[in-house]
Amino acid sequence: EIVFENVCKHYGKNLVVNHLNLTIRAGERLILLGPSGCGKSTTLRIISGLENISSGKLYMGGKCVNDVPSGDRNIAMVFQNYALFPHMTVEENITYGLKVHKVPKGDIEERLKSALQMLRLEGLEKRKPKELSGGQRQRVALARAVVKRSDFFLLDEPLSNLDAQLRGHARKELVKIHEMYRQTFVYVTHDQVEAMTIGDRVALMNKGVLQMVDTPDNVYNRPANVFTAKFIGAPA
Ligand code: ATP
Ligand code: MG
Repeated sequence: EIVFENVCKHYGKNLVVNHLNLTIRAGERLILLGPSGCGKSTTLRIISGLENISSGKLYMGGKCVNDVPSGDRNIAMVFQNYALFPHMTVEENITYGLKVHKVPKGDIEERLKSALQMLRLEGLEKRKPKELSGGQRQRVALARAVVKRSDFFLLDEPLSNLDAQLRGHARKELVKIHEMYRQTFVYVTHDQVEAMTIGDRVALMNKGVLQMVDTPDNVYNRPANVFTAKFIGAPA
C-alpha cells in the first residue's frame, strides 16, 4: 500500500502537487492520468524517493518513508526517457542491478530469460543500445525493471515509443507480469486507452490537484466533475 497524506510539492513558487490525499492499494494497478504538466511524473518520482516532498507524509507498506532514501524503498522504475547504459549490452543493462544486489547467478539467468521472452527481445542480448530501435530500447528498459521483482513497480509512460501493434502486445505483457508478481503498480500515462485497459483504478490529475479516483468504468461513465467529463470526452 502507498498512502499520500496531504502531500505538497513546490518548485519555487509553483505548487506542482497540491495537497494530495490518495491511497494506492497493495497489489492494484493504479493509473495516473492527466494532461501534460499536471504533475504525474513528479508524483511518481515522489514515490520513488527521487524527489523530496515539501509537506505532508508518504507511507509505503505501512511505514512513513519521508526520510527513507530511494535505494531502500524496494521499487523498480521505468522512466519516461528510459536511459540505458550506452556502453553495456542489452543483457548487461538488464542484469546490472541484480548483480549489484548479489542475486544468485542461476536466478539472474532465469529472470533474464523470462524477461527477454516476455518482451520479445530474444536475439538482441549482445547488442548495445545504439544498435537498437527506439521501441527495442524501451522494451530493454522495461525488462530491466521487470527482473527486479520489487514490491512497487513504477512506470512513467513506458510504451510511448512503441507503434500501435507493439504497444498492444506490451500492454498485455505488462498485465501478465503484474498478475504473476502482484506488485503495487503505478502507471503514468496520458493515453486514455492505456488507462482503461490496464487500470484497476484511474487517478486523474489536473494542475497538481487530484480530480477523481475510481474504476475506469466510473471515471468514464460517472465523471465526478466537469474537468473529468471534459478530459475523458476529449479525443486523445
Ligand atoms: P508530461 O505528461 O508532459 O510528462 P507530467 O504530468 O508528468 O507531464 P511533471 O513532469 O510532473 O508533469 O511536471 C509538473 C510541473 O512541474 C510542470 O509544470 C513542470 O514544468 C514542473 N517541473 C517539473 N520538474 C521540475 C523541476 N525540476 N523544476 C521546476 N519545475 C519542474
Ligand atoms: Mg511526465
